[in-house]
Amino acid sequence: MALPPIRKSAAERAAANMPDYDEALKTLGWGELRKLLDHLPHGALNIAYEAVDRHVAHDRGAHEALRWFGKDGTRRSYTYAELKVETDRFARLLGDMGHGRGVRVFSLLGRVPELYIAAIGTLKAGGVFCPLYSAFGPEPVRARMAIGKAEVLIASPRDYAKKVAPDRAQLPSLRDVLLVGEGGEPCEGVVDLTQALARTPADFTTIATRPEDMALLHFTSGTTGKPKGAVHVHEAVVAHHATGRIALDLHEDDVFWCTADPGWVTGTSYGIIAPLTNGVTMVVDEAEFDAGRWYAMLEREQVTVWYTAPTAIRLLMKAGAELAHARDLSRLRFMASVGEPLNAEAVQWSHKVFGRPFHDNWWQTETGGIMIANFASMDVMPGSMGKPLPGVEAAIVDTSGKHLRVIDRAMESGELALRPGWPSMFRAYLDEDERYDRAFRDGWYLSGDIAARDADGYYWFVGRADDLIKSSGHLIGPFEVESALVEHPAVAEAAVIGIPDERAGEIVKAFVTLHTGYEPDDALRKQIMGHARAKLGAAIAPRQIEFRDTLPRTRSGKIMRRLLKARELGLPEGDTSTLEGSP
Ligand code: ATP
Ligand code: MG
Repeated sequence: MALPPIRKSAAERAAANMPDYDEALKTLGWGELRKLLDHLPHGALNIAYEAVDRHVAHDRGAHEALRWFGKDGTRRSYTYAELKVETDRFARLLGDMGHGRGVRVFSLLGRVPELYIAAIGTLKAGGVFCPLYSAFGPEPVRARMAIGKAEVLIASPRDYAKKVAPDRAQLPSLRDVLLVGEGGEPCEGVVDLTQALARTPADFTTIATRPEDMALLHFTSGTTGKPKGAVHVHEAVVAHHATGRIALDLHEDDVFWCTADPGWVTGTSYGIIAPLTNGVTMVVDEAEFDAGRWYAMLEREQVTVWYTAPTAIRLLMKAGAELAHARDLSRLRFMASVGEPLNAEAVQWSHKVFGRPFHDNWWQTETGGIMIANFASMDVMPGSMGKPLPGVEAAIVDTSGKHLRVIDRAMESGELALRPGWPSMFRAYLDEDERYDRAFRDGWYLSGDIAARDADGYYWFVGRADDLIKSSGHLIGPFEVESALVEHPAVAEAAVIGIPDERAGEIVKAFVTLHTGYEPDDALRKQIMGHARAKLGAAIAPRQIEFRDTLPRTRSGKIMRRLLKARELGLPEGDTSTLEGSP
C-alpha cells in the first residue's frame, strides 16, 4: 500500500546542508557536529551565546534575526545586534532584581517579541526558562509553576490577573512578576517589563554555563496522560544547531518559519534556538492558524524553509489547493512536519500542490531535538518518518521478555528505542526520578512509540504503545487505519480506538470528520466502511464509524485518542489540562 518514493534531483542533493545519507553516517558524529559551534573558554557552553552573541562576534550583527507579525498587522524586526542588546538588558534586569544562576523563569506570553527576548535573556543569565502556553487556564498554569518552582513569571497583565494573581499565595517560590502590554491594575510584586527594560543598561556578559547546567524545562503535550516536566541542559544546543542544519536544511540566508508555539517543545528547539544558532531570519506570527493568512505570509515574506505540524497541513488540505495556487510560493525550498504521524496522502498532496513534499520527522519533548527525519538530500518515502540522524542510534525492540531484544527483521513492529547519549537528551523528569528510570532499559531509552523499519532503513510509525488495538489476535496500529480512512475523498480527519468486545477482545472504532460538502449519513458511512475494508481487510477495518464535527486535540495539535476512548467507555477523563478549548 506504500506510495512510490519522491526522488531528489542531483541538484537538490548537492544544495542540501547535509551530504548524502550514507556519506553523512560516515563523516558526521556528534564530535564533528559539535565543532559547528563556537565554544566559550574553559569548557563553558551557553545556548544564548551560540544563538545571538556569536553572530555579532562574527560580523553578522546586521543580519535580520527576528521578523515578527502581530495579530493586528503590526510588524517588528530585530537584527542579531539588536537582539543582543535586548537580551543583554533582560539578563541584566534579572541580575539587578537579585536573580542569579539557576533562576526559574516561566513565561505565559503569547508569541510576542518579549517572549523571545526573555528566553534568550534568561539563558544568558544562567537561568532556566520554562515556556507555557498562554492559553492554559489557571489550574494547569498553577500546577506547572508549582512543579517547576517558578521564581519569575512573565505574562500579560490580563493573564496574570486572571490566572495567577488570585492564587499567588499557593506559589511561595514566585518572587517577581514581569508584565508585558497594556491594562491591568498596578499592584504589589509586579513590574512593567517594558519600563523596567528601558531603565536597564544593555551591559551584560553571558554567563559561562557548563554543558550540563539546566537550561530549559519543557512539559510534554499530555497526549497520553499527565504532562511530564522534561529537563534539558545547555549541551542540547549542539543537537538543536546540527539538526536545524541537517534535518531542516537551514542555510544562513534562509527565511525560516516555524509555526509552533514555544509552549510546545518544537516552538523552543526550532522556533527559537535552532534558527538563531544557524543565523537565519526567523518569522514569527502571533496569530493562530488561518489558511489565507498563512499563504499570504509564505508569499509576502518569501519564506524559504517552513516547519509545521500535520494538524495544520490537514487544515490546509481542507481549505483547498486553490488558495495555494493563487500565491507565488516559488521561494519555498524545504517543508517539514512533526508532532503526529503524517499520512502518505498529505505528503503526496503537498508534492502536488507545492511542487515539493512535506518532510516528516520524528522526535519528542524528551529527545529535545529531531532524531529521525526525511532529509533534503534523501528520497522521501510518503508515510515514513525517515531515517535516524547521523549520531543517533535507533532500533526497534521487543520489550516483552526479561531483556530487550533488538528486532532486525524488516517491517516487524516493536518499540522505538534510542541509545542514550545524544546532546539534547532530557536529563530528568523534574521530581519524578522513578519515572525517568523506567524510560531506560538494558542500555536503551524507550520512546513509548511503536514503529517498524523497512529493509532500506526507513522508519514507519505504527502508533503509541498505549493506543495499540488488539483484535482477534491482530495487533492494530491506529495510524494505518487512519491513513486508509483519510484516503477516502469525504474524510478530512480520522481517529481510531479499540473498544472492548466479547468475541474479538477489542474492535476498531473510528471517529471521522468530513470535508465540507459531504453529508454525514448512513450511505456515506457504508461507503467509507467499504473503502476501509477494501484497503485494510475485514480484520483491521473499523467495525464502527462515528461522524464528528471536530476531534479532541491537545494545544500542540495532537488528537487525544485516550479521551475519545474514555468518553466512549464512560471512564474518567484523566488529565485534560492540555486539551484545546479547555478553560
Ligand atoms: P505525553 O508524553 O504527555 O503523552 P506527547 O508524547 O504527545 O505527550 P510530545 O513530546 O509533544 O508529547 O510528543 C511526542 C510524541 O508525538 C511522540 O512520542 C509521538 O507519539 C508523536 N510524534 C511526534 N512526531 C511524530 C511523527 N513524525 N510521526 C508520528 N508521531 C510523532
Ligand atoms: Mg510522550
